Amino acid sequence: MKLKGILPFSKQLIDLAAAPGDTVVDATCGNGNDTLYLAEKVTETGHVYAFDIQEAAIQNAQLKTQDHAHITFIQDGHEHVSQYVTEAISCAIFNLGYLPKGDKSITTLPETTITAITELFNLLKPGGIIILVIYPGHAEGQIEKEAVLQFLSEFDQNLAHIIQYGFINQKNNPPFVCAIEESGT
Ligand code: SAM
Repeated sequence: MKLKGILPFSKQLIDLAAAPGDTVVDATCGNGNDTLYLAEKVTETGHVYAFDIQEAAIQNAQLKTQDHAHITFIQDGHEHVSQYVTEAISCAIFNLGYLPKGDKSITTLPETTITAITELFNLLKPGGIIILVIYPGHAEGQIEKEAVLQFLSEFDQNLAHIIQYGFINQKNNPPFVCAIEESGT
């Protein structure tokens, strides 16, 4: 297949946005896959802030990234990001929903996700990108998808370029990506 799948596409966006030396945020570190990718991308001259509300997720992500010292793990909601991150960031990523193989009753929620997007947008460098991988295949995810798409569709087009990428002929509400690029004006 030549078209990128959802997760490879999200990584391609990280490649576009993040470079060695940058500060970046994994807003939902979960098992640490994106945390590791970000850490390798920004190298030890950069820094990754990784958020999750679950201790189990932070532990899994720490294990996966143990060779990298330039990561700060924060067991708190991403909606509080501005309490922890004050420098400009080039990239942030969310994988919404619940922890794979974890407690499915603990999921990201529309209100806190939108608060976090707003806070992170205020930290973005010109041309920086926020990536959202959205999972509408479960009930809470469907509600979150509607709320996030509503919020993004009303975002000022002078401030950001916002895209949606996904496969429209897949069954069972497949995941898709939205990306918010700070317009640099
Ligand atoms: N990218 C992750 C990986 O590589 O495994 C998967 C992330 S998982 C789909 C979503 C994560 O968001 C869960 O681990 C969950 O605990 C976390 N989460 C839920 N609400 C959150 C919040 N308000 N702030 C930060 N993390 C949150």
